[in-house]
Formats: sequence, C-alpha cells, structure tokens
Amino acid sequence: MERVYNFSAGPSMLPLEVLEQAAKEMTNYNNTGMSVMEMSHRSKVYQEIIDSAENTLRDIMNIPDNYKVLFLQGGASTQFAMIPLNLFGKSKKADYVNTGAWSKKAIAEAKKYGEVSVLASSEDKTYTYIPKLDKDDFTKDADYFYITTNNTIYGTKYNELPDTGNVPLVADMSSNILSEEIDVSKFGVIFAGAQKNMGPSGVTIVIIREDLIGNAMDITPTMLNYKTHSDKGSMFNTPPTYSIYIASLVFKWIKDQGGIKAVEQKNKEKAMLIYDYLDNSKLFNGTVAIKDRSLMNIPFVLPTEELNEKFITEAADLNMVNLKGHRTVGGMRASIYNAMPIEGVKTLVNYMKKFEEENGNN
Ligand SMILES: *Cc1c(COP(=O)(O)O)cnc(C)c1O
Repeated sequence: MERVYNFSAGPSMLPLEVLEQAAKEMTNYNNTGMSVMEMSHRSKVYQEIIDSAENTLRDIMNIPDNYKVLFLQGGASTQFAMIPLNLFGKSKKADYVNTGAWSKKAIAEAKKYGEVSVLASSEDKTYTYIPKLDKDDFTKDADYFYITTNNTIYGTKYNELPDTGNVPLVADMSSNILSEEIDVSKFGVIFAGAQKNMGPSGVTIVIIREDLIGNAMDITPTMLNYKTHSDKGSMFNTPPTYSIYIASLVFKWIKDQGGIKAVEQKNKEKAMLIYDYLDNSKLFNGTVAIKDRSLMNIPFVLPTEELNEKFITEAADLNMVNLKGHRTVGGMRASIYNAMPIEGVKTLVNYMKKFEEENGNN
C-alpha cells in the first residue's frame, strides 16, 4: 500500500523525510548500537538529542532568552490545569475567550482554582467565528488572559491578538504552532501538544516567560509545577524520549524548508487553493467567517448528509483519508498541517471539482 494523503486533525501526517530518517536510525542510533527508545535519558547521547530539539526550536521560533522551553507529558489537556495552578499567584482571576471545545475545557478546569471571566464566546454560532473583544471588559488585575489561537474542530484562528497590556497572554497553540511566524515576546505562555504540527503524541511543548515560573499555588502537585521541570531541564523524571527525538527531526525539517516564514508561505498557498474553490463552488460550502479562517483546519459541508458520506467514502478510495468532520460540525474537515504536501491539497481540490461536476445540478 502506498502512503495516503492523511487529512487527520491529529495525530496527523509527519514529513516523509522525518519518518525515513527515523527508520534508518531505528535500530542503531548514531553508532550507539541501540534505538533512541532504548537509551537512558541521562546519557550524553540523549542529552544531545533534547538539547538539539530545544536549540532548533529556539532558532526557528526566535524564542527570546528570557523564555524557558519545557518538554512535558499529559498532552495539551494537562495544561488546562497547569496554567491556573501555576499562574494564579496573585489575584486568582483570569480572563478567557470561549472559541470552542478546547477553550471550554480549559475554562472548566480553571474555574476549579480561581475566578474566571469568560469575556466573549462564539458558541451561539457553533464557534464559526472569533468573537470581538471589548478592552473595557478586560479584568485589570487578572493573573493571565487565555486564548486558543487556532480552533482545530471549527477551523477558526486569531488573526489579531488581544492587547492585554501587562496581563500575560496565554495561548493554546496546539494546532497552529510552527505554521506561521509569531512574536513569542507577545505571550506569557505558549503551549502545544505535539501531535498536530510537531511530532508524535506524548510530548507537550511549553514556552514560558521566566518570571511566570515559581509562583504556583500551594496545592500544585510537584509534577504539575513548571518550576519542577524548568529547574531540571525537563529531566525531573523520564521525559517522552522518543517523541522528543522525532520532534527534533521535525524542527530540523522546518529549518531545511527555509524556516517558518517559508512554511507559512506554503501553508497560505495550500489553504487558499481550498478556500478559493469553496468560495466559488455552488455545491460545497465553507462553514467559517472569512476573516477568521484557519490555515490548518478547513471544515466544509455538502447540502445533504448523503452527499457528505458519499464524498468521504469515495475520497478514501482515492487515498485521501480522515476527511470526516468533527461530530459537532458534521460534513468534512481537511486538516492540512505543515507536513501535508501541496500535491495532497491539489489532489483534494481536483476531486472536489470532479465531485461537483458529477453531483451538482448545473
Ligand atoms: C488536540 C488539541 C488539544 C488536546 O490535546 P491533547 O494533547 O490530546 O490533550 C487541546 N487544544 C487544542 C487546540 C487541540 O487542537
């Protein structure tokens, strides 16, 4: 079986070059006579792998020196608790914007530890847009301000960040980290599960401004305290060694592509192929407000449930898989992360055209 175009929202496609290099090194990494999986995380060879992961990430994201990079476990979902536990150091107040299922889970978790204001929500329209914010509503003495920069399920993203002044901006970037250039210094904390755009599941990257470490609530479990991991270079306990290794290969791959700027250009090109087609189609409809459209996750629908199903089934016969939309949105969703080649997107759009010719009524 040849490789398929995998439009999964996550875990998702990895660059073929990365998989091939990992395969080459699978049983004998760099003449050690063992796989990375079998290696002590305390060994010199492994220290070089994790250092290289961190340094390459710092390089491609241009991370300032006063930020720590942590390699943690528990997925992005564990950050929903770690953020409030670690950042509710003063007023125990935080502002949140509800832009989808992941924000909602983060809000529910934060409410266990402090006073949460949900400043705006797009739940009224199934999260198909990013709600407008009024600066007058912002809590002046909030410990932090929380957003989900890209909403994986609904296909929206922030194109403009809220100006939170001195209140640290916290961002769940699980599904758009490394997809476009960002200014890390605008954020207090950035976190992302790896399995969308960075590597295999199992590792969660946290990029945190140093002054936000060390003020955790007293009840914070040792393993959920950023200070624990920051003090020990993410080696307080055994880190997810193999996931970090693959992530380091992905970071190098991005560098080889010309860095995030080049990757962003390609991502825009890929997304526009689909959006242009959706905007002109009489059969397919995009579900998201144009100004808030994601570069990574593109939901769209056909007029009937039968056509949706037919589209998904026939796509799979053509080696395009995992196009089924999230159950709360229905229809289709094409997740086109960094590793999706432009050929995959072109193949999809050509298939959409053909499908419209055969099933549209023009
Ligand atoms: C996938 C996803 C999560 C959950 O990630 P886990 O690693 O499975 O906990 C959280 N937030 C966003 C935006 C996601 O896309």
